[in-house]
Amino acid sequence: MVIVMEHNATSEQVEHVVDKLVEKGFDVHRSTGVDYTVLGAVGAKIVSTRDFAAMSGVREAHRISEPYKLASRAFHPEGSRVRIGDVEFGGDEVVIMAGPCTIESEAQCEEVAAGVAEAGARVMRGGAFKPRTSPYSFQGHGEKGLRIIRKAADRHGLLVISEVMESAQIPLAHDYIDIIQIGTRNMQNYNLLRDIGKSGIPALLKRGMSATITDLLLASEYIMAEGNHNVLLCERGIRTFENLTRNTLDLSAVPVVKQISHLPIIVDPSHAVAIRNRVAPLSQAAVAVGADGLLIEVHQDPENALCDGAQSLYVSQFSELMDSMRRIAQAVGKNIAEPTLA
Ligand code: PEP
Ligand code: MN
Repeated sequence: MVIVMEHNATSEQVEHVVDKLVEKGFDVHRSTGVDYTVLGAVGAKIVSTRDFAAMSGVREAHRISEPYKLASRAFHPEGSRVRIGDVEFGGDEVVIMAGPCTIESEAQCEEVAAGVAEAGARVMRGGAFKPRTSPYSFQGHGEKGLRIIRKAADRHGLLVISEVMESAQIPLAHDYIDIIQIGTRNMQNYNLLRDIGKSGIPALLKRGMSATITDLLLASEYIMAEGNHNVLLCERGIRTFENLTRNTLDLSAVPVVKQISHLPIIVDPSHAVAIRNRVAPLSQAAVAVGADGLLIEVHQDPENALCDGAQSLYVSQFSELMDSMRRIAQAVGKNIAEPTLA
């Protein structure tokens, strides 16, 4: 932290700030110029710059290191690779996760799992606990749903990603889920983040719809601080003044996160644009801009889906999209798993 004192600050005021910094555990480096005294405070502690800015005689206080530590690229200069089963995030493969918004039935999961696996997806998505905006909307099938998606995914060699909304659901995740999804509405549910950190289960942390990238990284810090470093960040669109899309997909988050953090970054275009025909161009752009993976909603009968049908791709559309994304991945030095034989 750098603290600039007012030009007329008294030596007592300067000493008072220095004492406070030392008390907080900082080494203080003093530079006394003609107009201003500048204090450089070096230390691992995280304190509020506002507390110092408010002290008498202080003109301004700035943080020079990031408020997040474990998520910062400085902590891990090489990008992290998160390996789950035989799938690795953060390497040359752009990992595609696909499936319905919510698990509806065995027949549904079987058809979608077969279709997305054949097209080259590596992970099946599907919610059993749904954070719906309205309490009157379908809330998910709970454990029964998890049992269904696990079986369908296993039959087709896919991993399972599914949302956990509260800590009491974590034991079920141990039984059925490979990657816990933390939804946009729960990004700042710090007790849940801590408990997922303690569970050690890999987690995909979605950016809160009104959260900055710094907020997202600080949220990931809650999981990592408990010893769970298997964290994937996810950009899923943020709320802006634009109203022709459900959310605004902030693709600039991808290169920004890559620069300041070592964690893999996944893009969910489905919840950003929310209309089927806009999902493909944004998926292609996400691959081009360097995303480590994508989370895409796919349904065998989107028109009759219980949840998010309008933004869900038909299985055949998904398969075409995979072909086009594969070509883009190749152009940027990455790859996407090849389709499997039916
Ligand atoms: C979902 O993935 O179905 C979902 C509810 O996502 P989000 O938390 O991004 O709205
Ligand atoms: Mn959804």
